[in-house]
Amino acid sequence: MSIKQFQNYIDGKLQAASNQQYLPVFNPALGEIYAETPDSEAQDVAAAVEAAQKAFPLWSNLPAERRAAYLNKMANLIEQQAETLALAETEDNGKPLWLSTKVDIPRSAANFRFFGTALTHFASEAHYMETVGINYTLRRPIGIVGCISPWNLPLYLFTWKIAPALAAGNCVIAKPSEITPQTAYLLSQIAQQADLPAGVLNIIHGLGAKVGKAIVEHPHIKAISFTGGTRTGREIASIAAPMFKKLSLELGGKNPSIIFADCEWDETLATTVRSAFTNQGEICLCGSRILVEKSIYDRFVAEFVAKIQELKVGDPLDTSSYLGAVVSKEHAEKVMSYISLAQAEGGVLLTGGKRVFPEGRCSKGWFIEPTVIANLSNSCRTNQEEIFGPVVTIQSFETEAEAIAIANDTEYGLAANVWTQNLSRAHRVAEELAFGIVWVNCWMLRDLRTPFGGVKNSGVGREGGWEALRFFTEPKNILVKYH
Ligand code: NAD
Repeated sequence: MSIKQFQNYIDGKLQAASNQQYLPVFNPALGEIYAETPDSEAQDVAAAVEAAQKAFPLWSNLPAERRAAYLNKMANLIEQQAETLALAETEDNGKPLWLSTKVDIPRSAANFRFFGTALTHFASEAHYMETVGINYTLRRPIGIVGCISPWNLPLYLFTWKIAPALAAGNCVIAKPSEITPQTAYLLSQIAQQADLPAGVLNIIHGLGAKVGKAIVEHPHIKAISFTGGTRTGREIASIAAPMFKKLSLELGGKNPSIIFADCEWDETLATTVRSAFTNQGEICLCGSRILVEKSIYDRFVAEFVAKIQELKVGDPLDTSSYLGAVVSKEHAEKVMSYISLAQAEGGVLLTGGKRVFPEGRCSKGWFIEPTVIANLSNSCRTNQEEIFGPVVTIQSFETEAEAIAIANDTEYGLAANVWTQNLSRAHRVAEELAFGIVWVNCWMLRDLRTPFGGVKNSGVGREGGWEALRFFTEPKNILVKYH
């Protein structure tokens, strides 16, 4: 059987890794290898940096409208190739095709479109000193920046970094996850079709511990924008901080969904199902700890579990599958080990808990039932560690203060969602929650202008809107004194 072969994109050219080595890439729904991707090394990073250095003077000095035109062209090409890209994302990641089609690919185009527009509106500050002079802040691109992204929303998160970095005038060395490299490879072809000048964007494939590390260590890569696990983030920070690199770290989460008795019932129930199990629970924003006010707990649990039992797990190409495969064998094993741990910790399985082996072409794939676990204290490992799969826990609370205390009792602080029709309580609770993002009566409703990111072990810095353009530029204050 012939398999697909991906390539690095360096200096405008598609090429193998310098060592000619490849890594296997799996289709998780089939449980088999379908492609290979370059197993790049520090040498490839060095070549990309050289190309980026050559490209930087031209790219950084292009008028904003010209850079914006390139970004908009990338967006158009993604839209034109949406069907191919969605299929590629599903083949690589295991997520349902309806989800890649509805969310991943449109958002990837939107990332280019949004920052292509934003850069033409980006302005900097002036600070006037009465009768003395005027300060103005010049914001220039940093130079060469590194963008490293994870496997759960492959093209969506890859472009969320690349687009603002390019918009701000930087040249980019980007690395997708070695587990889901396909759409990044297709993006390099799109960059060629958009006639992006050689060296402006370089995409290098390979292992995190090898080529990812080489990007972080390279002395000429002046900023790192990373999305991935908290442990990896810590490792990256330990290398980049002593080199005084600018760092943006978007890390793990253990997000609470807080449901008060006065919530709008049907919408709360339906959205809690989505926030728990969309993308097999493999979204950093998924609500994995569901906290329900005691007076409605029994009814909520009964109706929630009934809805979960209706969700179909199966072939991601089948439009009736709500959940596809989890991303890899290793990840399936990790998720299953947490289900065992939860039971060992005294958890009661309300539904799910087992692997699924669909009939037909996906019989060897890595599928897991959506799983709901009750009867656990918030302090146990199941409620403290990120599982990042189709597993949620349900706990009850009696007072607003208790809900806030349980929600905040985690080392993570990415996102929370709150369900109440009491306006004062909504504001009060949102303010008390130690999370970077709070959704009230909704989940994952995104406005790309807003600051995106977490507190505590969920990361450092914010992405989105002006935050991203500020991150990818270096401010310089210039004071002109009057005579
Ligand atoms: P990961 O940390 O294993 O890998 C992420 C990326 O980093 C990959 O490209 C990987 O190759 C690379 N990498 C690994 N080790 C590296 C190293 N030492 N140096 C440099 N690069 C290295 O994460 P993952 O398993 O791909 O993704 C899942 C994690 O991502 C979860 O923890 C999830 O919460 C998090 N995530 C966070 C957000 C957010 O916005 N906060 C969004 C999506 C995913």
